[in-house]
Amino acid sequence: MGFELDVDATRWRQGLTTVAATTPGLVPVIKGNGYGLGRDLLAREATTLGLGTIAVGTYAEVPDALAAFAGDVMVLTPWRPFFTDVVTDDRVIHTLGRVDDVSALAAAAPGARVLLEGETSMARHGFDRHELAAAVAALGDLHVEGFAIHLPLASRSGGGNYAEAESWAAALETSQVETTTLYVSHLTSGEVAALAARRPHLDIRPRIGTSLWLGDLGALSVRATVLDSHLVARGEHIGYRQRAMPRDGTLLVVAGGTSHGIGLEAPKGTTGVVQRGKSLAKGGLEAAGFSLSPFRIDGKQRWFAEPPHMQASMIFLPGSAAAPAVGDSVDVAVRFTTATFDAITLR
Ligand SMILES: *Cc1c(COP(=O)(O)O)cnc(C)c1O
Repeated sequence: MGFELDVDATRWRQGLTTVAATTPGLVPVIKGNGYGLGRDLLAREATTLGLGTIAVGTYAEVPDALAAFAGDVMVLTPWRPFFTDVVTDDRVIHTLGRVDDVSALAAAAPGARVLLEGETSMARHGFDRHELAAAVAALGDLHVEGFAIHLPLASRSGGGNYAEAESWAAALETSQVETTTLYVSHLTSGEVAALAARRPHLDIRPRIGTSLWLGDLGALSVRATVLDSHLVARGEHIGYRQRAMPRDGTLLVVAGGTSHGIGLEAPKGTTGVVQRGKSLAKGGLEAAGFSLSPFRIDGKQRWFAEPPHMQASMIFLPGSAAAPAVGDSVDVAVRFTTATFDAITLR
């Protein structure tokens, strides 16, 4: 019992199946902490879904992916000549986004499979569209598997990413890049369908992580065990920082701390004594420099008594709230892309 994720497996897999069935050409993204679920677990699910290609974030993630998944593994971070962990394997698809890198990879790994990436309004990686001809000229024996675009989560026009995706689709069709496969990130299913209808010669393949793996948050519940509980009086000093408690209440020590990805946002800095006095007069624990924790106890999100520790958090519960017993568990609202669990259970 600690900081744990419970997955309602039937419900979660139902969601995965629905997304896969309604997303032709889906490439699941399996990167980082595996969206809280772990990359190996997700790779097995991708296999069960019958998908032929997965995308990982970095070359460091490739060996595990090749071991856990029998199909192709696409690397989202573009290849660079100075990377020391590049895996060359027939099942690995590299991403290229700089002309110099095209010739360098062509020399280093002739025959390698690659995607060419276009630089979108994200401005993260990729070729400017005027560089495409030079990129194609530098390909040598590299095998182009597709073209890729990565779009923002929020478009500036408010009208979505469609216009930008469509303009890249047009650029691809008129370019010398010999592929009809366009990998897209962050288009809605409606935008993908519209693009596919508008560009029937292109095979549009969405690369999706969050809305696939975390598409049904109701199937995932995070529980933290109450490890200890102490009555505290107003003004009593506790913790590493010996901060004074704001009222009488209960100090709960709950499993889940910085090592689990809890409370990475900096706790509110405490300003000068005068300023603090003024804020306190206005009332509220936030004004007193306390931070709201992701732990939900007796129906409410509660305040950290001090910044989270490595393996546990100290939570202040006012005397008016019903305190859980040691050994009980409480709900936690985590950010899955930064969470690490002591255990993940599929039920
Ligand atoms: C992470 C990533 C994705 C998946 O993003 P989600 O928001 O998790 O769906 C897609 N494409 C690229 C290039 C990425 O880096």
